[in-house]
Amino acid sequence: MAQYAHPPDPSGMPLGPRQRALLAVLQEANAELSGQELHERLRQGSQRHGLATVYRNLRLLQRSGLVRCRKLPSGESVYAPLERDDHHLTCVGCGHSEPLPICPVGTGGLGLTKVLPQGFKPLFHTFEIHGLCRSCQQSEPLAHG
Ligand SMILES: [Zn+2]
Ligand SMILES: [Zn+2]
Repeated sequence: MAQYAHPPDPSGMPLGPRQRALLAVLQEANAELSGQELHERLRQGSQRHGLATVYRNLRLLQRSGLVRCRKLPSGESVYAPLERDDHHLTCVGCGHSEPLPICPVGTGGLGLTKVLPQGFKPLFHTFEIHGLCRSCQQSEPLAHG
C-alpha cells in the first residue's frame, strides 16, 4: 500500500538545535502556542532563546513545512506542528472558540489541488468559521445598551 501525504520527517531536515527544541515544545504542547508562550517554555531549558530568535526560527520552520500558524481575532499568531490539522469555529459575540471535528479542506473537502495554480507548493492551510453561537443569537446585542 502506498503512503500518501504523511508529515515530513524532522530528522531528515537540516534543523539547528534551537529549531529542534522549538519543534519539540510545540509537539509536546496539546494546544497552539504563541511566540511569547514558546519563548517562556524554552527559557526553562538549557539553551538561550531570545524572543527575536524564536520568531525567526518559527518562520524557518514554517518554510520547511514543519510548523503551521494562524492568526487569532486578537491579532496574535499561534503555532502548532504541521501534523496537527485543527480548525476552529469562533463566536464573534462572546469569543468562544471550539475545534471542528474534521478538516474541511483536506482530501474530499474543497479539493485544494484543483484551485492551486501550477507550480505552487502548498505547505499548510488555515480555515476558520466566524459566526454567532446559540446563546449569542438569543441575546439582542443592542437592546440593553
Ligand atoms: Zn457567543
Ligand atoms: Zn486542515
